[in-house]
Amino acid sequence: MSILNTEARPGEEAEDTAPVAVEVRGVHKWYGTHRVLDGVDLTVAPGEVTVILGPSGSGKSTLLRVINHLEQPQLGHVSLGGEPIGVRWHRGRLRELSERQILAQRSRIGFVFQNFNLFPHLTVLDNVAAAPVATGRLRKPEAQELARDLLGRVGLAEKVAAFPRQLSGGQQQRVAIARALALRPGVILFDEPTSALDPELVGEVLAVIKDLAAGGTTLLIVTHEIGFAREVADRVVFMDGGRILEQGSPAEVLDHPQHPRTREFLSKVL
Ligand code: ADP
Ligand code: MG
Repeated sequence: MSILNTEARPGEEAEDTAPVAVEVRGVHKWYGTHRVLDGVDLTVAPGEVTVILGPSGSGKSTLLRVINHLEQPQLGHVSLGGEPIGVRWHRGRLRELSERQILAQRSRIGFVFQNFNLFPHLTVLDNVAAAPVATGRLRKPEAQELARDLLGRVGLAEKVAAFPRQLSGGQQQRVAIARALALRPGVILFDEPTSALDPELVGEVLAVIKDLAAGGTTLLIVTHEIGFAREVADRVVFMDGGRILEQGSPAEVLDHPQHPRTREFLSKVL
């Protein structure tokens, strides 16, 4: 049985943000002389689930951070639902958006980190309710109602009053997913969401992500969980040295990798 109830209830559907496309075009990013992203092009269609694989240091986290505008590329751009991230055209020139406009764009993107990044001093309920209040989308009672609902969907209804330190890693990560959902994002980015977890807790987090995938959310997931990629990904992308070396269906990339680096990587993780 699924632990995440993604079935819309009557009257609820209109609240949900439609899944959006992500487009990454010609993105280059370097720190000093170190080139971390070296011309990345990636298109994720609305509702598509893309899994990014690649060795440590290949630029996967940096790519997610560029998409979320936590880092700015030196060249290239990212757009979300057809709208450029971080910039806009003004009198024929690209202008930086204000911090406020960037925050508004970022609120359309959910981000789930390896180390959960929950607020330790807030209850589980307030961790999930905080962002819709801070962004002015909901008043506190409404945000708390939404948070209760989302925590129920990730199987944590009985933990609303707990503090993060009282939860297992798997439960904390499910709170983090509920928190990302609270802004009703058009896309959710996951950066190795299970790699800090004890092996027996990985499954409960992957089950929640699987249900999001089945519910049609646009997902971009960095993970080393190959079995999971095979099951849920519409597309698998292999990165190395700041480039996408190969992409395709799970069957293409995982079972018939074309690039020697992909073969070498898979032989180590499978
Ligand atoms: P991955 O997530 O695939 O392991 P990252 O995107 O984290 O890779 O990092 C890619 C490379 O960029 C690594 O060599 C890392 O050391 C370097 N890097 C990442 N962030 C910074 C930074 N803020 N300053 C300098 N180097 C960085
Ligand atoms: Mg990383």
